[in-house]
Amino acid sequence: MSVVGPAPGIRTTCAYCGVGCGVIARPDGRGGATISGDSEHPANFGRLCVKGAALGETVGAGERVLHPLINGTRTTWSRALDAVARGFGETLQAHGPDSVAFYLSGQLLTEDYYVANKLIKGFIGSAHCDTNSRLCMASTVAGQRRAFGADVVPACYEDIEEADLIILVGSNAAWCHPVLHQRMLAAQAGRGVRLINIDVRRTATSVDADLNLTLAPGTDAVLFSWLLVQICEGGGLDREYVARHTTGLGEALAQAKVIAPDLAEVARATGLDAADISTFVAWFMAHPRTLTCFSQGVNQSAQGTDKVNAILNCHLASGRIGKPGSGPLSLTGQPNAMGGREVGGLSNQLAAHMGFAPDDIARVERFWGSAHMARREGRKAVDLFDAVARGEIKALWILHTNPAVSMPRADFVRGSLGRLDHLVVSEAFAGVDGLLERAHVVLPASPWGEKDGTVTNSERRISRQRRFVEPQGEAKPDWWALSEVARRMGFAKAFPYQSAHEIFCEHAALSAFENDGSRAFNIGGLAGLSRAAYDGLAPVQWPLPAGKSPSGRMFAGGGFFTSDSRARLVAVASPALREPTTARFPLILNTGRVRDHWHTMTRTGLSARLSTHIREPFVAVAPEDAAALGLDSRAYARLRTAHASAVLRVEITPQQPQGQVFAPIHWNDATSGQGRVSALMGAHVDPLSGQPESKAAPARLEKIDMRSFGFLATRRHLSLPRWLVHARFAIAGGEGVVFACECPPADLYALIANYLPDSGQRATLRDEGAGRYRTLVTSRAAIETLLHIGPLRDDAALDMAIRHFAAPEHDSRLRRALLAGHAAEAVDQHGPVICVCNNVHAGSIRAHRAAGARDLASIGAACKAGTTCGSCRPEISVILAEPVAATIPIRQPEVSLESS
Ligand code: SF4
Repeated sequence: MSVVGPAPGIRTTCAYCGVGCGVIARPDGRGGATISGDSEHPANFGRLCVKGAALGETVGAGERVLHPLINGTRTTWSRALDAVARGFGETLQAHGPDSVAFYLSGQLLTEDYYVANKLIKGFIGSAHCDTNSRLCMASTVAGQRRAFGADVVPACYEDIEEADLIILVGSNAAWCHPVLHQRMLAAQAGRGVRLINIDVRRTATSVDADLNLTLAPGTDAVLFSWLLVQICEGGGLDREYVARHTTGLGEALAQAKVIAPDLAEVARATGLDAADISTFVAWFMAHPRTLTCFSQGVNQSAQGTDKVNAILNCHLASGRIGKPGSGPLSLTGQPNAMGGREVGGLSNQLAAHMGFAPDDIARVERFWGSAHMARREGRKAVDLFDAVARGEIKALWILHTNPAVSMPRADFVRGSLGRLDHLVVSEAFAGVDGLLERAHVVLPASPWGEKDGTVTNSERRISRQRRFVEPQGEAKPDWWALSEVARRMGFAKAFPYQSAHEIFCEHAALSAFENDGSRAFNIGGLAGLSRAAYDGLAPVQWPLPAGKSPSGRMFAGGGFFTSDSRARLVAVASPALREPTTARFPLILNTGRVRDHWHTMTRTGLSARLSTHIREPFVAVAPEDAAALGLDSRAYARLRTAHASAVLRVEITPQQPQGQVFAPIHWNDATSGQGRVSALMGAHVDPLSGQPESKAAPARLEKIDMRSFGFLATRRHLSLPRWLVHARFAIAGGEGVVFACECPPADLYALIANYLPDSGQRATLRDEGAGRYRTLVTSRAAIETLLHIGPLRDDAALDMAIRHFAAPEHDSRLRRALLAGHAAEAVDQHGPVICVCNNVHAGSIRAHRAAGARDLASIGAACKAGTTCGSCRPEISVILAEPVAATIPIRQPEVSLESS
């Protein structure tokens, strides 16, 4: 273990994905900070994706929860903590421990997680403590525990540079784990590493793949079962490894042959070309250094655990595990999903990778000196909120997550919260819709930048998150609030913590407690860290038992954490979608993320830069389905499932397979009207992991004939009615809103004009014949609000308004131009911003292509697009491959101008 020396700025870890990039924060002294990549962090060596690079714009921004609240009224911390403790105590006394639950988040630091888990499982006596990581990677946990006897990721990021073949499964890494994807592309360019991309749709990750396998939803296990058969029968079996270190191959192979009896059947089931399947198998056979990276397309599935084990079976049978460049590598979603797994944040874990076996319970009970130990597994997320709805769980503490938006059947979950006698919410941001207003007690929590602790990334690397700005208002760390409540409930002796450092050392000591090597998670080597050593802790991988060096790769020589130290090859079930399509719901809905946003946008939504790429919720539709439904590229549609509906802009793309649609999860009622997508998903869970299906729900699209479109750019937040289809986004100097309506433009204008500020000078352009209405409100020399409404979308006018809005003054020429729209702007500034780092629009890339730039390098040389973080390079490649479009002349309206 090494300790980093003083650095210019403060070393910490990115707040977003499980890559866990190191960043250096330089506080500006005004509550904000500039952010750069940490060149010494082994996850990223200085690189950041666009989300990480924009972190500085979000520090100190956004409306915060600044003070404790009881029933919506400000109170003191002391009163709020008393109320929290009293509520849980009374519920316990009246209804017993099974009436109490915690719902945690992968945004929590390990130290927060540890205290929450200890309080509820060790002292309240309930194991109903689950985390939103259940929605993220619980199937990988279950699959790894089944195969390896422990939740261990055997590979590490260095394997990207060592591999000869990288297989991505259910992973749009180009958008969701961009820094790792850039490492893969560098390996491809530098050493000729082959990339195979297996997914149900074509994504940004497809662009650079050497082989794309776009398979039917839910059929990953068929493909990997076929691969297992070919490994065993085609000379790929590592007989010695299998004989010495595994068991179960016979049963797994027999079942694989049932699932994948021959190539024709595999091609039929997966929808893939037989030749592509054979290429996949041949490349796997030819490259012993094979790394298989998988993420949410595998996990977020009602068959997720079997998909994971089908992949692990192939690596175990071929002995490709724990060796340089070869192994399975699960890419986790959240920054600290792994840390949550380590402390026992999932309801079927106890602590430090121990479960609910009698020996584990007794051991943890001894270590904690527990008063009331939970003795059986608790409810997993979907089951937990079902129990809330039935009134069985009566007191719930939710920390740093919003199940009212992110859970499947979110409307049902939202409604069920009203049944609780005692709802406590720890939250940093005030715009968390559907949750704060239902809470009996709200505790102001410190977000990233204000708190101190550790996180663990996808390769088992523990890194410090360090505080670099002062907490806003009365915000406090979560471990502190949890400890204070524990003390008030009578457990002061077990919760004496004064710092995150003390908690980390206890967590490390528990991992080593009575651990003779039978438990994988052992960081006993960190249990005795001094405060200074903890503060200076450099990123380090576990396991790290006392007196030993950290382990990068695992299992090359066996040593699995099962009773006989052998891995298990698993006979996986025949895959079948839990909810097949019907005549009423003929499409399959897949949900996921976009490049520049994260979860429900509480942080990324604060950045104007991150809002330039995709501004509004959408549904991606195949051209064939769009044609059948009469949808064009300006259309909106109602996306409906058995559970809810959303109204979304239609994006027609050949990347989307026929019969399937895709919609992102990020928008909620605070950022959109009718754009919440998680509410559409059902509650079908994987039977082993309890992870809900987020990738395949039967759905239908109904065309909506929008007759009017418009946008607002405004310095004030204007509350629009929820029924109006709209989306909000940050712009420099204020907020942008786009909207669409089935009513005529004149009616929409009459509606929206009611929300405009009364003060200031107002100028209005009306073109009744063309149905165009525009109003500009100015205060002194600056624009306060700009409103455009017309019969067509006018993205160019919006782009222009966004570019100029933040200026402190707008002269009369510019005001007229903004009222008129896009005529004053160069065409190369049109379209969405593709390269957010260098603010390069799609129009600019097209213009440079027309001028002769034909590849990424020449586009980069011409306008710098794609030369910084690289996240946009796949999209630039797509634009370069487009046919050249004709220029559409722009008609100027005949208008009357009114001023007031
Ligand atoms: Fe942050 Fe993930 Fe981007 Fe790294 S790849 S900068 S961890 S969002």
